[in-house]
Amino acid sequence: MYKIKHVFSAILFMVAAVVVAQDDSTITKEPGHTNQSKFRQMYEEFATPNTYRSASGTPGPDYYQQQADYKMDIELDDKNAKLYGKETITYHNNSPDVLEYLWVQLDQNVRAKDSKSPLRNPSRIAVAYQPATFTKEYMSEPFDGGFNIEYVKDTNGKALPYTINRTMMRIDLPTPLASGEKFSFDIKWWYNIPDHTVDRARSGYEYFEKDGNRSYVIAQFFPRMAVYNDVEGWQNHQFWGSGEFALPFGNYEVNITVPADHILDATGELLNRKEVFSKTMMERYERAKKSYDKPVLIVTQEEAEQAEKGFSEKKKTWKFKAENVRDYGFATSRKFIWDMQAVKIGNKDVMAVSLYPKEGNPLWEEQSTKAVASTLKTYSKHTFDYPYHKAISVHAKNQGMEYPMICWNYGRPNEDGTYSDRVKFGMISVIIHEVGHNFFPMIVNSDERQWGWMDEGLDTFMQYLAEQQFGKENPSVIAPHENYPSRRGAPSKIVPYMSGDQSTLAPIMSNPENVYQLGPNAYGKPATALNILRETVMGPELFDHAFKTYAQRWMFKHPSPEDFFRTMEDASAVDLDWFWRSWFYTTDYVDIGVKDVKKYYVSDKPTPQMEEYIAANNMSPSDLPPLVYLSEESEDGEGKTPSESSQTLNAFMMDNLTSEQRAGVKEPKYFYEVTFEKPGGIPMPLIVEYTYADGSKENVTFPPEIWRKSDKEVSRVMATQKELVGVVVDPKAETADIDTSNNSWPKKAEESDFNKFKQSIQGEN
Ligand SMILES: [Zn+2]
Repeated sequence: MYKIKHVFSAILFMVAAVVVAQDDSTITKEPGHTNQSKFRQMYEEFATPNTYRSASGTPGPDYYQQQADYKMDIELDDKNAKLYGKETITYHNNSPDVLEYLWVQLDQNVRAKDSKSPLRNPSRIAVAYQPATFTKEYMSEPFDGGFNIEYVKDTNGKALPYTINRTMMRIDLPTPLASGEKFSFDIKWWYNIPDHTVDRARSGYEYFEKDGNRSYVIAQFFPRMAVYNDVEGWQNHQFWGSGEFALPFGNYEVNITVPADHILDATGELLNRKEVFSKTMMERYERAKKSYDKPVLIVTQEEAEQAEKGFSEKKKTWKFKAENVRDYGFATSRKFIWDMQAVKIGNKDVMAVSLYPKEGNPLWEEQSTKAVASTLKTYSKHTFDYPYHKAISVHAKNQGMEYPMICWNYGRPNEDGTYSDRVKFGMISVIIHEVGHNFFPMIVNSDERQWGWMDEGLDTFMQYLAEQQFGKENPSVIAPHENYPSRRGAPSKIVPYMSGDQSTLAPIMSNPENVYQLGPNAYGKPATALNILRETVMGPELFDHAFKTYAQRWMFKHPSPEDFFRTMEDASAVDLDWFWRSWFYTTDYVDIGVKDVKKYYVSDKPTPQMEEYIAANNMSPSDLPPLVYLSEESEDGEGKTPSESSQTLNAFMMDNLTSEQRAGVKEPKYFYEVTFEKPGGIPMPLIVEYTYADGSKENVTFPPEIWRKSDKEVSRVMATQKELVGVVVDPKAETADIDTSNNSWPKKAEESDFNKFKQSIQGEN
């Protein structure tokens, strides 16, 4: 008894040793790095939690944020395309720190004559030039679009010393601003408004040659407070052009004076509607507030076309008030057609609004407000009820840009009013995207200057869900059997980027100024990553709850990346460090395949390794306890037939199991060892589809942790009633696997899609 026990534990030990040895041989170990596992926790990468930001991902007990309130009088000089403004900023220091100076952002200085933005990029002679580019590059003086600051004064009229460093202005305070104190000051400024269609500005005018009018979409138009917080101190990284904005919340009172025949809408509640609306407009507006199924025109196309001819010399002032917004934007033109409808969000009515010149029709009257309404509903469902009272979509050529309650969107039909599907879906998608930005980053107020993905990635992910929902709701746009043609979000869409030349890739966790391809980097890849996280890694139920928790924890606050990463784990109990590490902190890609399938049969004869062990230990087979073996089928397919294998299995059962135990067990006929390989750096769930000789299929998903100790290769043994004839990894293409040529056993003879794809893009750049 003792001896048998001894031998048996020796055998167990040996078996265990063999298994460990196999594991060890496949773990990637680099010299000097003891733990390269993608599954190690993110202690080194994440900021240490503190009383401002908790380890759970919530705002901590000492979390604070600054507040900046604005009172502004703005005047548009339409004839000369100049914008004048006077503002009083009241800055509340809610931080525990004493501030010696304040930083104010002068974004328009990116277009100053002496801007360094055009100088930071190397240039080479191009193969060919578009006439407009050639003229601008080599034949024109730079546009003089910087801020002209007339004064910076305290509220007693005393000049405050200030220093302008390009797009940032430091205002030196007469006495340091203590914690809990506030400081008010005035700035007067003006600047030349750029033609946004020429230099791709986020703000400016479009000139319509035929009628001599301009249509303005105006933003980043006033000196704005920079963010001061526990993560960055002052966020005064210069505005170069790609990294967008970081702004504190505050309350705004804004009076905007424009030609009297302009139609204008803006961030905030219109306070003097009766002064600026005609009686007819008021009546239509009252109707629109009760119209939940379709928009009501406040200004018709006929009226807009009439107004285009006016060029009134009179002025009108539109007065707005906005609470708890991080920015301000407005659109104005005598060309605008205006429609709106009500949307129920929770127990509140929100107005979905569109402004567009006749050049946007008929597309805009058909789709814009409908898209706004649908977006508000879908995003609210996944985050929080949209808290503002309206959301406006403004048509502006080539634009796609967002501000609180208002955004600019492209999508222009041909001159005869016809349009392609590409224009239509491009327009609906950009509206969904830009209206969606109300949630990220206008309300969940992340730092765009530092992290492009926190707003663009989360928004593009939500955009995908909203587009699919829009498609389902609108059979006139998307046939019931079709899906909305989303440009980003589906796993396959990111494969060309992630499989691209590594020297042109950057991790998602990069500053927007330093990435090579901002679109795929900050929009496409994080959107796909979150989509995969939702569909394949966590499942919609766990994901949706965690995502909503993040949105609700950080609405009207300033989250950091860790706050997002931590909340997603905190609310779901899914360890995602491996996922963040691989998808967000590296440029690795997914490539998982099936390498080999070996067939085994049940045997009572020792396997060759066991024979070796017996010989090495001077034992005889009779020293062994009763054991059962799985022997590999020989190269030429020789092995026991299933019925012979069954006889051995039956004998094993008779010898080792009671009749009661025998009644409760399965009797598998086939045994396989399936080996999977992982040439890609990203671990993912191992999704496997087994096909059997009778044509039936079985799907098994192994958790991503199957790769935790063995990064390159893992095997799984399976015992089945049916003969295995096929193995496919990731059968529904849900992991963004970049090379599917290794995804099948037996190997598919025909060329893989990936290779076909690679060949198809050769020659393109
Ligand atoms: Zn965006």
